[in-house]
Amino acid sequence: MRLAIAGGSPVRSTFLPYARQSIDEADIEAVNDVLRSDWLTTGPKVEEFEAAFAATVGAEHAVAISSGTAGLHAAAFAAGLGPGHEAVTTPMTFAATANAVLYQGARPVFADVRPDTLNIDPELVEAAITAQTRAILPVDFTGQPADLDEIASLAESHGLIVIEDAAHALGATYHDKPIGSLSHMSVFSTHPAKHITSAEGGVVTTNDPDLARKLRTFRNHGITTSARDRHEKATWLYEMVLLGYNYRLTDVQCALGISQLAKLPTWLMRRRAIAARYSSAISEMPELEGPVVAPNTEPAWHLYTIRLRLERLRAGRTEIFEALRAENIGVNVLYIPVPWHPYYQDLGFRRGNWPEAEGAYERMLSLPMFPAMTEADIDSVLEALAKVIAAYRR
Ligand SMILES: *Cc1c(COP(=O)(O)O)cnc(C)c1O
Repeated sequence: MRLAIAGGSPVRSTFLPYARQSIDEADIEAVNDVLRSDWLTTGPKVEEFEAAFAATVGAEHAVAISSGTAGLHAAAFAAGLGPGHEAVTTPMTFAATANAVLYQGARPVFADVRPDTLNIDPELVEAAITAQTRAILPVDFTGQPADLDEIASLAESHGLIVIEDAAHALGATYHDKPIGSLSHMSVFSTHPAKHITSAEGGVVTTNDPDLARKLRTFRNHGITTSARDRHEKATWLYEMVLLGYNYRLTDVQCALGISQLAKLPTWLMRRRAIAARYSSAISEMPELEGPVVAPNTEPAWHLYTIRLRLERLRAGRTEIFEALRAENIGVNVLYIPVPWHPYYQDLGFRRGNWPEAEGAYERMLSLPMFPAMTEADIDSVLEALAKVIAAYRR
């Protein structure tokens, strides 16, 4: 069959994105109700969303925030990161993880990933720790939990704070415990591409009341009381005690988040079913490697990332990507190693220091993965993969 990129007809007539939100009438009603209420922001929906989120991930405290990126910034602040400090993180992530370290004037240090899960390698984290290190920022890449026990024990023995970037991992478990309850702070995103959405948004979870207080104050300009506190106490007085930001999540968004959270269990089941179908098909395709699931973990499957066995193919990742896109399959490449970005190059980072992450980047593709995908959508992804691989097989 002629590839669409060579003028043939595409496997699908409509484009299948790599991620997409699911919004139903209950979500729309929840948002409308808030729009008719007195509090569009700093109102009761914020605490309601925080309580529901904390319960979902088994954490003592959840702090709703305007984005996952703002959550990472707030966590870097609460961890006490500042000029002269270092924080160890992974090159295989979205730039926001490392940017949070830069926001605080500290320096990110990239430790390479494990070849199997592409999560940060604890041995390389240990090797990267210096007298200046204050924090470790592991990422649960694709929703596969990182080696959190090993990272926690490194943090314990070196007196470091763990800020887990759990943007991919809402609903994942590690040794039967939910992600969000295990690190000093865990940061989630509620961007529409993620497991649940509040349009933009994020949540930081922690079991430490001091960290929770710092996060809340940082989110609110560094002011210790909210507008609603002052309304209820009939006072104008407030104190700004640290240099914070306006990183609040509105009640409109929190209402959407609450409504979405109720559907998380069903959506996780659907993501797992899609992953199972992909994995069984890919195990029959010798040109492809499926994702590795670490023992004692249950991933949340934000992404389903395959790697090409380039030695069995006559084309590289870019050509395969373009051929699949022409078939209307919204494959994506996540992620460009963070130190490769021009901004990081200008900071002095040089290519070639992270061979596992850099090598994986050259042969990785993420397949469409979102709960509203139908069985026919999955069929079309697998059909297009088989078609494109057959055309480029060596
Ligand atoms: C989505 C994401 C973020 C940022 O979240 P936003 O809510 O978009 O700011 C951070 N880290 C990772 C790994 C992400 O995937």
